[in-house]
Amino acid sequence: MKMQAAFWYGPERLEIEEVDVPQIGPDEVLVKIGVALTCGTDFKLFRKGHALLVKDIPSPFGHELAGTIVEAGAHVTRFKTGDQVVAANSAPCGTCFFCEKEQWNLCENLEFLNGAYAEYIRIPAQIVRKNLYKIPSHLSFKEAALTEPLACVLHCMDRIGVKPYETLCILGAGTCGLLFVQLANLYGTQPIVVGRGKEKLEVAKKLGAKHTVSILDPEFKDKIKNLTSRYGPDTVVDAIGKPETWQLAVELVRKGGRVWFYGGCVSGSNVSLDTHRLHYDEITCSGIFHHTPAHFSRALQLIASRKINVAELIRGEVRLNDLHQIFQKGNLDNPMKMAVIP
Ligand SMILES: [Zn+2]
Ligand SMILES: [Zn+2]
Repeated sequence: MKMQAAFWYGPERLEIEEVDVPQIGPDEVLVKIGVALTCGTDFKLFRKGHALLVKDIPSPFGHELAGTIVEAGAHVTRFKTGDQVVAANSAPCGTCFFCEKEQWNLCENLEFLNGAYAEYIRIPAQIVRKNLYKIPSHLSFKEAALTEPLACVLHCMDRIGVKPYETLCILGAGTCGLLFVQLANLYGTQPIVVGRGKEKLEVAKKLGAKHTVSILDPEFKDKIKNLTSRYGPDTVVDAIGKPETWQLAVELVRKGGRVWFYGGCVSGSNVSLDTHRLHYDEITCSGIFHHTPAHFSRALQLIASRKINVAELIRGEVRLNDLHQIFQKGNLDNPMKMAVIP
């Protein structure tokens, strides 16, 4: 049997091709994709490749998905043909050095799953065992497919451990920025959101940002200070992933505050940091990457309880054959999420 699938051939080269439907092993399932969502990471990968996600070229493409099981391997007992499911794009092995330290997101054997921009996808055994879930019947594929990015943001929010009386500043009003806003509200705090597009900042306000500040405003740094008793925010999260925004995060945070680098920069990026700020001002900086099975499961529960506004995050639909349209040049700067329908 043949299917249509997207492949990445190198910077800004994407092809839709007819290939064989994947064969599955006894511990795997075959999913007919209902919806795949575009993600900022995919846009970064499209332009420059990705250190962890691309193993071979041509590479399958797309990683946020929900669909229907059309074949289950002989050893699979928890799922059957016809189940509607959402799969994470990886699962930890549970036995490596990092898994033993319970740093599941840093597992050496994550085996990232790409290939959601296709008609079918093979879900590897490790994901079937640890990071595949049936979708509650009241949820659409579109809503369920948002589980992966929400799991990443939830992971970060847990690590931040934000207190309701503390000020949280989010750099970026893209999908993840807007998920941060919604989760922050669930955690009892209304963040300040710093972004570029007027429309996105309005959405941030609507979803629960206490204040929004445009980075295009020459006074924006002063504005943030004025909103945070002149010292700066207690916590700043970079949800953009550019060297300049990482530096901005360090510049904005208050003395003794914390910076979380949530957005990954393209491979090979370097950032210079003001040692005075780190040493004398005692700023704590940390990267935060990916998700864990516990966060993936909780993210799906949050979506199922309709605590996350999905409609504001997914802006439209595109057919798989028209995928080029959204990945073309000029369209790449911080696009909103789209649902890709095979
Ligand atoms: Zn993603
Ligand atoms: Zn591991």
